[in-house]
Amino acid sequence: MWYLGNFGRWDINNLKKIHYHLIYINYNKLIILRKKSYDSGNKASLAHHLVKKLKGTIDATTFDSSNNSTNLIETSDKSKENNYKFSDTLLLPKTTFSQRAFASVRELEIQDASFKTLYSWQYNRTNVKGTFVLQDGPPFANGDVHLGHAVNKILKDFIVRRKILEGYRVSYIPGWDCHGLPIEIKALQNSEEDAPRDPLQIRRKARSFAQDAVALQKAAFRRWGVIADWDNAYETMNNEYEASQVIAFTEMFEKGHIYQDYKPVYWSPSSRTALAEAELEYVDQHESDSVYVKFPIRCAKDTFLAGLPGDIQNSDIQASLLVWTTTPWTLPGNVALCVNPSASYAIALVAFASRPCKEVWVFMKAQIFDLSRLFASLPSTSRGQCSHGLAAEVSEFVVIGEILGKALVGTTCCHPIFKERESVVLSADHVSSYTGTGIVHANPAHGLEDFYVCTTPDLEGKVLVNDVSSVCYVDDAGKFTDFDSRFSGLDIFKEGTQNIIGMLSGEGLLVKHEIHLHRYPYDWRTKKPVILRSTLQWFCRIGGPLLARALQGIETLLMIPETSKNRLHSMLSARKDWCLSRQRVWGVPIPVFYKNNDKRQPVISRDISQHVAGLFRAHGSDIWWSAEHDDALLPPSRRKEGLIRGTDIMDVWFDSGTSWNAVTESATGSHVADLCVEGSDQHRGWFQSSLLTSVALRGALPFKTILTHGFVLDSEGKKMSKSLGNVVSPNNIINGNPNKNKEAAYGADVLRFWVASSCFTSDLYAGKESFAKSSENVRKLRTSARFLIGVLHDFCIRLHGVSQSNMLTIDRYIMARLHAFQEELNLHYSSYRFQCVVFRMLTFTSYLSSFYFTLLKDRLYAARADGPERRSAQTVLFYCLEVFTEALAPILPHLVEDIYKHAPRPHGKETKASVLMKDWTALPAPTPDREKLLVAGSIIEKLRPLINEKRLASLKNITSNEQLEIRIALSHALKPFLDEFEGKKDELKEALGGASVELSFGLSGSCKTDSLEVELLSGEKLLYSTNISVEKTRMNKCPRCWLYQSTNPKCLCPRCREVLNKKPAP
Ligand SMILES: [Zn+2]
Repeated sequence: MWYLGNFGRWDINNLKKIHYHLIYINYNKLIILRKKSYDSGNKASLAHHLVKKLKGTIDATTFDSSNNSTNLIETSDKSKENNYKFSDTLLLPKTTFSQRAFASVRELEIQDASFKTLYSWQYNRTNVKGTFVLQDGPPFANGDVHLGHAVNKILKDFIVRRKILEGYRVSYIPGWDCHGLPIEIKALQNSEEDAPRDPLQIRRKARSFAQDAVALQKAAFRRWGVIADWDNAYETMNNEYEASQVIAFTEMFEKGHIYQDYKPVYWSPSSRTALAEAELEYVDQHESDSVYVKFPIRCAKDTFLAGLPGDIQNSDIQASLLVWTTTPWTLPGNVALCVNPSASYAIALVAFASRPCKEVWVFMKAQIFDLSRLFASLPSTSRGQCSHGLAAEVSEFVVIGEILGKALVGTTCCHPIFKERESVVLSADHVSSYTGTGIVHANPAHGLEDFYVCTTPDLEGKVLVNDVSSVCYVDDAGKFTDFDSRFSGLDIFKEGTQNIIGMLSGEGLLVKHEIHLHRYPYDWRTKKPVILRSTLQWFCRIGGPLLARALQGIETLLMIPETSKNRLHSMLSARKDWCLSRQRVWGVPIPVFYKNNDKRQPVISRDISQHVAGLFRAHGSDIWWSAEHDDALLPPSRRKEGLIRGTDIMDVWFDSGTSWNAVTESATGSHVADLCVEGSDQHRGWFQSSLLTSVALRGALPFKTILTHGFVLDSEGKKMSKSLGNVVSPNNIINGNPNKNKEAAYGADVLRFWVASSCFTSDLYAGKESFAKSSENVRKLRTSARFLIGVLHDFCIRLHGVSQSNMLTIDRYIMARLHAFQEELNLHYSSYRFQCVVFRMLTFTSYLSSFYFTLLKDRLYAARADGPERRSAQTVLFYCLEVFTEALAPILPHLVEDIYKHAPRPHGKETKASVLMKDWTALPAPTPDREKLLVAGSIIEKLRPLINEKRLASLKNITSNEQLEIRIALSHALKPFLDEFEGKKDELKEALGGASVELSFGLSGSCKTDSLEVELLSGEKLLYSTNISVEKTRMNKCPRCWLYQSTNPKCLCPRCREVLNKKPAP
């Protein structure tokens, strides 16, 4: 129950004023209580009294705001009659629409009454322009909501509501991404330490965790007023979804897009799984141990020897190739050294301070300056424990020759770790002169380029490394395997690296060790560094026809903002093959079986997958782990072949990326959505996975338009984080912060207004001030709406509406402005410029209240209730309210529903459950003289401040223009625009706000003139001369309307006399 305040009501029969209290009970129930002495401002005693009365001592009827009649509860004997006052005869605004929103109570009631059936109503209506499909990129079912969710869901809701208003059937099925490592990790954290790591147990916990998160998020999204097909929301862990995903995977395999390979992928030792590009984050100042190592030449090619000076050729000076690497732990698996065949390489003679023998070092010539730095005695590290190696002993360093890289190809060098092995020099175009020595050590197990160089057959068809696994010495956890007892079990980042550096130093191969700071990929969840590691994985082949078709598809895609297109194009072009398999349990199993329990003999086939999908549909994918025998997962025809199920699950991006297949296509019959709205991080995530799977399976993109939004930062532009204490929770915006009593509970509309008023295409700023400002702006809009509802209390468009041709000129001018305003808003909506919509709403309402509403007040309050002048104004105000409501409906749905419930309903029209269901009264078409009216109105608006100036300059003791007799002479050229006002002195008086106005055209040469700038509709601005003179009127102030229109003091003006004559005498 809320106390809304009190109001006076004119009792028309007895000409007296009675005061009432207004008490709000619940949605559409108000109590109006006759004011009495006992309640002099004391709300507690009033409430007490009310409760007593409601218990039955009187017949308490309630007031139903949905039918515009008032049932008053008389709670006392008749109060003393008030003295008659003229002001009581004025038709002041009258409404039960409250100035305050009471958002925390009212919004819930509105949602209950108006939003629940909205989605199904609009989806099932028949007379529509077409179906508009909004595809939901599913949020991750991981924890509570944040402002980023609010931006995403609220933007989508603006669009859904707008499209419903435009007459479309909207298909918007919201969803959640429920699988994946972060949820699995949380499930593991929640398990007791000694609990068995049983896949089914982990999956059960992960599922329950995801379900809780979905429930939490769904409740929040609905609280924000988001309408969607909530009853059919999808979860990627649903049986049906998983079944269709298994089929999609199999189809992609059949079409040749998916293959199995043993090659380097991003591997997170901390999560013990492969990671996709989208699961990485890059850390700028990662510290790596970088080493310069020499690889002594064992057997040089003649081409190399030819480049040496004769005396060196014939000496026993040892020549070495100089290599730089930031991953010393990959050196044990070294198989080759790569050089750029067309680059120049320098041959340098090196002498040492501590020993007599000289050496020859070879490196890319372009790197010479970089390398000479190594020999300077500058401290190169803050750590101190780094070994300076041979570089510290160099006393002389002279370049004595130069050869091309191709002269080195075929040279063999000694392996730095294993004496019995050798490392061969290969030609590789990827070797650049950006960093290092221009000679790259290659280990095909830990670098993609190395992998291609070492596994691609040479001209003779020979392959350097047939089995890459033979040189992969790193296990799942990032430790060395037992390939060599010196390293076995050592962490590659720690002791493993230190041991190798120590060994290189001991062998005299280390030239320099230093700490190198660079950008390095980390696991986005564990925040630990990742490595490239070769494992047997499933990949989607991106290059070739798939990429070409995807890039071609992007050309026809509409992206907002436009720059997004380049971003998506370049990210996709640079994309490597997509690793689809993960070595975890919380996900959809890859429907693969293996012959002879050999991972190199996979079986994926349609008949098996269809059987598996059927099992998933019926039992969920848990069956993959719970089925005791592999044959139980196979169709009868494939049993007893000795097939063993695989253990990998699919990358979560494949889950969400196939939602166009599992959701859109099955709901609408087409896999192509009209629109997707997601955060700009999805350029490398969901946009790509959706696009690639759709192009692979349907040959076309799954969306026509993509709208992207930025991230939410605090008011200073900093990322929100718990440690900075700058996180703003959407729940606290709506309900207030439970820990801070003083923080306002703004409600969902204010949160939505903040989204609309932010420039969402870049990052959004959220601070206390931004929400306070939004709240203030929503309140302004509410105030304007309240004024409009209040002055329309006795108006019905069907019964009292005035056609444009019968309106007063100034009203016709506002109608023309309103048309232009509506056209502008439509344009903003069609290009999703919500910021422009709210900005224009604020400026236009502020314009109307300072100009039009102000000048109308006399006509609305004092003119004859059903006179043509007042009805003309009310007609315009009715359309204003209609245009406002329609424009705000997508953005502030709670406010708009509240307006709808309180606004006078046109005669014979029932109130619908929601404003979106109502029949809108379209603005009548613009009149042919619209352009002329717009110019005329703008001249009037320009003249008003000039009149003010004149008064202030010459009549300082007069405080209002209403006491002025105004004479205006304008240039003849303006006559055609203003001829509408000819002979309409009262209209001019109202428009310009004087006791009398004389308007003439043609200026005499002697009078002093002002200049008046008139803007034509072409945009052309012209300066005209004008002459304005003002003097104090001899007329008297009317005691009723306060205008200076009475001939005698304290007497009513003729207009008021006429109005009151039609009323019963006091
Ligand atoms: Zn009057």
